[in-house]
Amino acid sequence: MSFQDKSLQCADCGESFTFSADEQELFESRGYTNDPKRCSSCRQARKSERHGNGSYVNSTPRQMFPATCAECGKDTEVPFEPRTGRPVYCSDCYRKVRLSR
Ligand SMILES: [Zn+2]
Ligand SMILES: [Zn+2]
Repeated sequence: MSFQDKSLQCADCGESFTFSADEQELFESRGYTNDPKRCSSCRQARKSERHGNGSYVNSTPRQMFPATCAECGKDTEVPFEPRTGRPVYCSDCYRKVRLSR
């Protein structure tokens, strides 16, 4: 059995793309019966969307959690989820506490 390259139109960007014989074989071996609806770059884009912010992960700010400083009682934010029983310090006190130990 042999496959032939097919020209398909992407449902997302409207560009025509080649559904190559190799890919068709791969598709069939995985049990897919429908032709792909999107070109490979749009498929990639959709894949990375599902993983959050795609390739811009590094530029997203870290999630901060509200906390109360165990030393001075000031409201602060910490880059990790504060756990009960573990003191959380604001950045000033954190520096002091670290130095004093
Ligand atoms: Zn596309
Ligand atoms: Zn403090």
